Amino acid sequence: MISVEEALERILAEIAPLAVIQVPLPEALGLVLAEDVVAQEDIPPFANSAMDGFAHEVEECTAMRIITGAPVPPGADTVIQVELTRSTGPESEEVEILQAVAPGNNIRPAGEDMRRGQTILLHGSEIGPWEIGVLATLGWASVPVIRRPRVAILGTGDEVIDVDEQLRPGKIRNSNSYLLEAAVQQAGAEPHRLGIARDTVESLREKFTEAVQDNLIITSGGVSVGEFDLVKNIMAEQGKINFWRINMRPGKPVAFGHIGGVPLLGLPGNPVSAAVTFELLGRPVIRKMLGNTRLLRPQVDVVVEDGVSDVAMRRHYVRARVEWRDGHFVARTTGNQGSHITTSLLNANALVIVPEGGVEVHPGDTAKAIMLDWPEV
Ligand code: AMP
Ligand code: MG
Repeated sequence: MISVEEALERILAEIAPLAVIQVPLPEALGLVLAEDVVAQEDIPPFANSAMDGFAHEVEECTAMRIITGAPVPPGADTVIQVELTRSTGPESEEVEILQAVAPGNNIRPAGEDMRRGQTILLHGSEIGPWEIGVLATLGWASVPVIRRPRVAILGTGDEVIDVDEQLRPGKIRNSNSYLLEAAVQQAGAEPHRLGIARDTVESLREKFTEAVQDNLIITSGGVSVGEFDLVKNIMAEQGKINFWRINMRPGKPVAFGHIGGVPLLGLPGNPVSAAVTFELLGRPVIRKMLGNTRLLRPQVDVVVEDGVSDVAMRRHYVRARVEWRDGHFVARTTGNQGSHITTSLLNANALVIVPEGGVEVHPGDTAKAIMLDWPEV
């Protein structure tokens, strides 16, 4: 059994950023810029007024009405804001300047924001709304970015039925595929739902034939040690297993390897395990494919209010709600931490880490928590 760090290291060593494509500017949101952006013009492109007012010295002792953002007329060197003037109205032939101002007042020089030739954004930057604004300012109608990965999502299990089916004895609904699809999308990839494979070699083979068209395959279930846990068998048959167990809870049975050259992350079937292992391992994979260099969620020290009293030997990732109170972060766990208790995910914004080796956390103890709703660092 390997540690979470080793698992992540082994996984990421196999993952590279995808190809560069050109996308229309509005579609670049959340993607990673693939080229440096160099200004081809001065921005602002012309000296303009920062205020509504009067441009002074158009000719000695004359002035001209000007609005914010308008080009400064030739000969003018200063804008006097309207509040510091008096005139009888817009048609007035005269304006009285109530207060002297320094030359250059309220003029935004050409190139004050960006100079022609200046590098404004570096390749590898994540494109958010503010970057979109700067790209638009510079006239980038389309943007070179690293392509969004397509991720095949496959549920497994004879007992698993689809969400719109009636529950029958012994059946459970496929929650994992929907949860993972949403999480994959939130991580910036395009999910490709492949439904549910039966617990047979034939059914899995058939699904994988389609899955290998994608950039990453994520399965849930079928990676433990039972006779129906066939995902590993197929991976060994059609590709290679890198590892299949991690020293963590929830989520010991996680398999990683590839099929037909496509990385395959085999997550556990238990929904909480699938959710937590996706956050810790799947999301960084997608971010790396997207070209991000910041892959991991930040960790903070928290005071654990209600303690964690079980003595698992594996590292335990406890779902918790972390809040800032009285000068420090406090964590309250979300109740029953069984890997089938999906409601323990609700309201959780963090994973409190209880180290391996049977460490106990008592109420009031300090622990590290992974902040799931903070951006990666
Ligand atoms: P497995 O690893 O295949 O034995 O699955 C472990 C547990 O997770 C079993 O109780 C399964 O019924 C459950 N499970 C497997 N796949 C899913 C799924 N797609 N949605 C919800 N629960 C699942
Ligand atoms: Mg199963």
